[in-house]
Amino acid sequence: MSSRPRRGPAVIAVLVVVAGIAAWQAPPLPSPPNPPLGAEPRGIMGTTCRLVAVPPSDASAHAARDLTARAVREAEAALRAVEAEMSRWIDGSPLARLNRAPAGQRVPLPPATLAVLRASAEAYTATDGAFAVTSGPLIDLWRAAGEQQRTPRAEAIAAARAASSFSDLVLGPDGVTKRRAELRFDLGGIAKGYAIDRASERMIAAGAAGGLVDVGGDLRVFGAPAQGDRWEVQVRNPFGGDTITTLRVGPSAVCTSGNYFRFVEIEGRRYGHIIDPRTGYPTAGVHSATVVAPDAMRADLWATALAVLGEAGLDLLPADHEALLVLGDPRAPRAVATRGMVPQISTPLPYPLAVPRPRSR
Ligand code: AMP
Ligand code: MG
Repeated sequence: MSSRPRRGPAVIAVLVVVAGIAAWQAPPLPSPPNPPLGAEPRGIMGTTCRLVAVPPSDASAHAARDLTARAVREAEAALRAVEAEMSRWIDGSPLARLNRAPAGQRVPLPPATLAVLRASAEAYTATDGAFAVTSGPLIDLWRAAGEQQRTPRAEAIAAARAASSFSDLVLGPDGVTKRRAELRFDLGGIAKGYAIDRASERMIAAGAAGGLVDVGGDLRVFGAPAQGDRWEVQVRNPFGGDTITTLRVGPSAVCTSGNYFRFVEIEGRRYGHIIDPRTGYPTAGVHSATVVAPDAMRADLWATALAVLGEAGLDLLPADHEALLVLGDPRAPRAVATRGMVPQISTPLPYPLAVPRPRSR
């Protein structure tokens, strides 16, 4: 998924950062669709980032240039600060330290990491256990299985499931204690959204009247684009390189998850990178889940959760979130959307679309 502000801004600052090292996710996403615009290629969160700042319309050309340059610089710094704290793959990051800690030892954590872990605990309950940041052992098991080209044995899956239990996380006011040494946290389904929110705030604080923070296709837009009043966000086709529709959204976050984007192939079968913590197996059936929400952290986590829960998960989705799922037989997929998503879908989908009657929403 990608987004573009509508045509012809007078002065906008754009920064594109291209993946170099996979510090956030392993393995990294495929190479980015955007060409670098004057920026040195650098990795961020294992993927690409695109930052657009729109200055206030009454700013002079000079002030607009300064402001937008500062806004994208600050936003990039905010993204990097979150990555440095919450990536499992950066040696010495607070999260990496927590993952290596023994059982029973309280590990002090910075406030942002604690905030994300608290939000993760709420998400675990709200998603009926489908979103579990304690899934590190399961995620690692399936990644290793892909590398070794061997399906894990049932006993190994059971052991990794036992080591991934959310109840082994003890959240304190300024730190975390693990009840079990093997427990490992993976914030790959939520921290990118958190980072996008912090980056958006920094752009606003720098004076941007509108803007876009897009990290690997998960994004947040605020204010108005340089022209028009809605942002156009393209939803990637889970089966190929093109898009299935363009969403037209006001200020909001749009995140997409799907096993079609990142997977391993073992013995001729595809296994996605999203694990159902309740079974210990990679999820199947949801090709992509796109969520529009007021903030990117929740859009991010709910997109991952819906990739696990499928259509039934729409009943758990908060009322101020909208979703679009692509499901079913890959040769004849179907789409399901919440009622509030429909007016934001601006071009016809290539699949039949159902809008189930809300049960609890
Ligand atoms: P996303 O791309 O936002 O859907 O996040 C997927 C990433 O979240 C994976 O690569 C894992 O790092 C992590 N993850 C996988 N399954 C789960 C799950 N059930 N709950 C929380 N995080 C998960
Ligand atoms: Mg996510």
